[in-house]
Amino acid sequence: MASHELKTPVTIFSAFAQLLLTDEPLAGKAQPNGLLSRMNAQITKLTNLINDLLDLSKIEGNKLQYHFNYFDFNKMVQDVVDEMRLTTSGHTIDVKLVKSSNVVYGDRDRLIQVVANLLSNAIKYPGNSDNVKVSSTQNKQYVTVSVQDFGIGISKEKQHKISSRFFRVSGVEEDTYPGLGLGLYISNEIIKHHNGTIPVKCDKGKGSTFSIRLPLRKNDK
Ligand code: ADP
Repeated sequence: MASHELKTPVTIFSAFAQLLLTDEPLAGKAQPNGLLSRMNAQITKLTNLINDLLDLSKIEGNKLQYHFNYFDFNKMVQDVVDEMRLTTSGHTIDVKLVKSSNVVYGDRDRLIQVVANLLSNAIKYPGNSDNVKVSSTQNKQYVTVSVQDFGIGISKEKQHKISSRFFRVSGVEEDTYPGLGLGLYISNEIIKHHNGTIPVKCDKGKGSTFSIRLPLRKNDK
């Protein structure tokens, strides 16, 4: 599965490159700018897959490094959403975050990776819906940010497996979406390292809510 996922963007990339190199005029086939931007999208996809595989090998070797600092969790979530809005068309992302500041002690870049993973999954498995809701709640000890979609959902029997390495739900709908089944495994490892959890609520055919629950106070990691 991994080699198929890695080869596909390379094959598409090389087909587009050949089209651009051809002596025949491109008219009727595609415009160079369009081809270049699709090539760029394939490079991004490939880079993400390679990064996931590198993270996996670091996790397995207990070598994933963390750089802990204090930072504003709300602001980070809002930044990830803004960035995602730039690269996704056809989806609305509604955001409702708690107003109070919520400083978290953690690795900002790694937590960005987790929020981006949950958001991109919410966008990737959409069913008939194009709406994603991002919200947060907070008490004295924890901040919880939730990413809710109204897409294909996940059946009760499969839910406990989704954070396993390389696990992907298979089925007619699910098989149409690319992926390695590593994002949630890596996200879970990162959140565990922050003494947090990723609660999941899914309903097959109705949608999914993935949350990140993190302690607000400094921990000893
Ligand atoms: P992938 O790269 O395959 O998306 P993940 O580890 O992020 O890997 O997710 C594991 C599996 O969990 C996915 O293959 C998919 O079957 C299921 N899944 C994750 N998020 C969602 C979601 N928001 N809606 C439906 N299914 C999901």
